[in-house]
Amino acid sequence: MASRAPVSRALAGDEAAPAAALTFERGAPGRRAVDVPAWRGEASELPPAHLLRASLPLPELSQGELVRYYSDLASRNFGIDTGSYPLGSCTMKYNPKVDDLLASLTGFADLHPLAPEALAQGTLAVLFELQEALGAITGLPAVSLAPAAGAQGELAGILMVKRALEERGELARRRRVLVLDSAHGTNPATAAMAGFAVTELQSGPDGRIDEPALRAVLDDTVAAVMVTLPSTLGLWEPAIEAVARDIHAVGAYLYADGANLNAIVGRLRFGDVGFDVAHLNLHKTFSTPHGGGGPGAGPVLASSALARFLPTPVVARREADGEATYALVAPEASIGRMQQFHGSVGVLLRAYAYLRTLGLEGLRAVSENAVLNANYLRELLLPYYDLPFPTRVLHEVVFSATRQRREHGIRAYDIAKRLIDHGVHPPTVYFPLIVEEALMIEPTETESRESLERVAAAFIAIAEEAARDPEALHAAPTTAPIGRLDEALAARQPDLRWRPPAEA
Ligand SMILES: *Cc1c(COP(=O)(O)O)cnc(C)c1O
Repeated sequence: MASRAPVSRALAGDEAAPAAALTFERGAPGRRAVDVPAWRGEASELPPAHLLRASLPLPELSQGELVRYYSDLASRNFGIDTGSYPLGSCTMKYNPKVDDLLASLTGFADLHPLAPEALAQGTLAVLFELQEALGAITGLPAVSLAPAAGAQGELAGILMVKRALEERGELARRRRVLVLDSAHGTNPATAAMAGFAVTELQSGPDGRIDEPALRAVLDDTVAAVMVTLPSTLGLWEPAIEAVARDIHAVGAYLYADGANLNAIVGRLRFGDVGFDVAHLNLHKTFSTPHGGGGPGAGPVLASSALARFLPTPVVARREADGEATYALVAPEASIGRMQQFHGSVGVLLRAYAYLRTLGLEGLRAVSENAVLNANYLRELLLPYYDLPFPTRVLHEVVFSATRQRREHGIRAYDIAKRLIDHGVHPPTVYFPLIVEEALMIEPTETESRESLERVAAAFIAIAEEAARDPEALHAAPTTAPIGRLDEALAARQPDLRWRPPAEA
């Protein structure tokens, strides 16, 4: 059991080292990072209870101390700009800096979300064009950019299905949403939050949709079936068109979890293979540095039959006297708002810049290289790790550490921790849930051949170390500022408050 040291302390590192001290533990009374002119106006009329307490313990640092503190923390951060980040399902790829540059132009970045539409025409025009582009890429022409994450896009999509069923007078009967057992946890959570009962579908022995098993549970009590394409195992679903026909034959909707779009972008459109509604993760497929909880954008896309139910707002284009104007509008039978404004506009702008710089040819190169890279890593690691579903993959590959566990008592967790010492971000572990000791590796399209080989060399060195010196692996990581945290405790009971030493 790891120690119960407060997370704030643990993240700041070894307290014995002055470099790791918190802001509160640095500096000296009276020191300031900026000089603020003294207040020479009227005495405040605020009641005393609303004034800042003189006794409030705030850090007192010089500007130099403050800058060193944050620079030190920043240098400990691992990001895609510092190394390989094969975190399966998260698509942690390099993001072109020009996308940040465009999103930070003052005309975009300083626009107030409540600015009158007449003053926001440029931003609205870009958002409209992005809607059109995403509709064209997915073959689902009705688009709302409002959802702020993949999970929110999913919820919007399933609420749209619910509203459509309500209009058809079938909501009372259609109470079930079918979800694959390999799905991201957000799929069953979405269905449950929307008020449906979740029926879990077991994948077939090849990790793909088991068609007979699906047909056995498909009937007129089903509202929708949620399918991730390609799946979280990185696998294509060869039966998807037949599956779509079966689902439509019983009057249900087919939902696409499009978070893995980088595997198929520019090559396959959800609308063309029978999907009715989908979400995308722009922060995965279309640029935006993400991780650690944000930021994101999860547009929801649908066939024209479901357009009336889109969340509000959508951007509409009107033409009068040869001149276009753009407006935020509420679809006729909208499910309502997903969040207060128009979505994560900064993320949307990055996605637009990314699309415009790549074009269709570039997008096809994205999916080609994402698939090539995942299969190259698959080949390099095949002799060293078990591969539960031994077919070619698309954008990611899920290995298993069962061999290492059986022979040397080494688990996926130990391997993940040792990768940190090799300068490689750990893969996603223990997901998808149907793979024991899962090591879910997604190299993404932006890694070079040399970088893929370095990642493979790290995994291989660890496989060899497992046989030679398993104890050393249990102790990893040894080069990180902190070793192993009690992660469950840190997540459930984060102690982020500093207290003066006397109170601690
Ligand atoms: C990332 C992901 C999600 C959830 O997206 P968020 O933006 O994290 O809410 C859903 N499904 C799949 C397959 C994903 O990879």
